Order: sequence, then structure tokens, then C-alpha cells
Amino acid sequence: MKNGTCPKCKSSNVYFKPYALDKVTLDGKGVDYTDYVCTERGYFETYITDKDALSKIPVRAEKIGDWKKAK
Ligand SMILES: [Zn+2]
Repeated sequence: MKNGTCPKCKSSNVYFKPYALDKVTLDGKGVDYTDYVCTERGYFETYITDKDALSKIPVRAEKIGDWKKAK
């Protein structure tokens, strides 16, 4: 999706919104993110861009266990 091609329908009609006003909450804290949408089928992806918040997830998975590693 980030390279401009939809993974579902291979369309190149992919748009993103770098400065969304809404907040995504991760573990109770608002984090920065970017939304990508395919205007062919409406496929939608959200990427959290807050590296600090992302780096805490593996630690939480190990110590707290609220996040689980996908297998
Ligand atoms: Zn698509």
C-alpha cells in the first residue's frame, strides 16, 4: 500500500492522508499515524508512525502480555 499499489486489487489509485486530525490510541496514548485508502475498492490501511509507541509493543508483549506476537 505504501508504494502506491493496492495489495488487494493491484490498483494504483492509492491515496494517503499524512496529517489526520483524529487520533489513534495505542495503550491509552494518542499516536501519530497515516491512513492509506484504495479508491477502487475502498481497501483501507492505517500505519502508526510513532516509532516510540511501536517500540514499546514487543516489550509489553514480553513483560505484560497484553500484546501477542502473531505467528
Ligand atoms: Zn484496491
